Amino acid sequence: MRIAELFTQKRPLCSFEFFPPKTEEGFAALYTTIADLKRLNPDYVSVTWGAGGSTRRKTIELVSQIQNEIDITAMAHFTCVGATREDLTQSLDRMHDAGIANVLALSGDLPEGYVQPPDGFRYASELIAFIRTKWNFCLAGGCYPETHPAAASPETDLKNLVHKVNQGLDFLITQLFFDNEVYFAFVERARTAGITIPIVPGIMPIVSEKGVRRMTQLCGASIPNELNARLLACEQDPACIQELGITWATQQCQDLLKRGAPGLHFYTLNQSPATRRIHERLFGS
Ligand code: FAD
Repeated sequence: MRIAELFTQKRPLCSFEFFPPKTEEGFAALYTTIADLKRLNPDYVSVTWGAGGSTRRKTIELVSQIQNEIDITAMAHFTCVGATREDLTQSLDRMHDAGIANVLALSGDLPEGYVQPPDGFRYASELIAFIRTKWNFCLAGGCYPETHPAAASPETDLKNLVHKVNQGLDFLITQLFFDNEVYFAFVERARTAGITIPIVPGIMPIVSEKGVRRMTQLCGASIPNELNARLLACEQDPACIQELGITWATQQCQDLLKRGAPGLHFYTLNQSPATRRIHERLFGS
């Protein structure tokens, strides 16, 4: 099923993101997580692509397995940094042959001292234009309500996003954020700039203080003062932080849905309990 079609039939869509584990035990645990979350009837799930294509085989296999054996619509993340056109072609052909219909096309983060392959791509917009020359996937892209960390300014970032969408994207998923005002202000700026496709908020339930501080530092998302104060008040008590993460994300989601967000995309970190409890509080199951 193409996710773009789902958006025309039903909103809001609910989706869960996973990453391919490194070990057999990790895979066993992930299958339990997926089985757990399948009971919540997600509209689709997505599987990340390792930096530099390091997990490409696993991503494609896992997406294909989720679709064909677990029977959930799935989307493969896909990055271009570090890849030659031949690499990209091979992966795209493999995804097509595996029956994958949905791809989240990204540039990927640049490793330090990065040297671009001579015929490779630097930006997601180039990858999207390349995909549109031959493959008929439903295509999603990433976007950054608080501006991508490498962007010269919010205005340039938005201009680049408009160009990227115009290469043929069907919908966008945002980087994680903890302040809904940031999301709604971004959506308004994107609409004013002419972007009309769905902009789905990415939600990450906080499961540890160290994790959220590391993640926000990496991706440039901010922690609102109130959330920061409540994290500090937990005094590194894991149970307190997890409860705070669930409460904060639930309130975020309730407000997002009330104000018309087209979906909720949960960064599950391959764990089901937090996402399940948020879902329960939102939808009663
Ligand atoms: P782009 O759209 O290419 O933009 C990157 C930067 O380049 C921005 O600052 C932009 O303003 C600038 N830019 C864009 N076009 C131009 C241009 N023509 N000229 C000059 N500057 C330009 N990473 C992974 O490795 N694997 C994953 O599975 C993965 N999943 C993700 C899922 C989501 C929902 C999101 C939001 C991010 C994900 N990432 C993933 C991280 C992502 O790869 C990084 O954030 C990366 O740095 C940017 O990717 P992008 O495709 O959004 O970038």
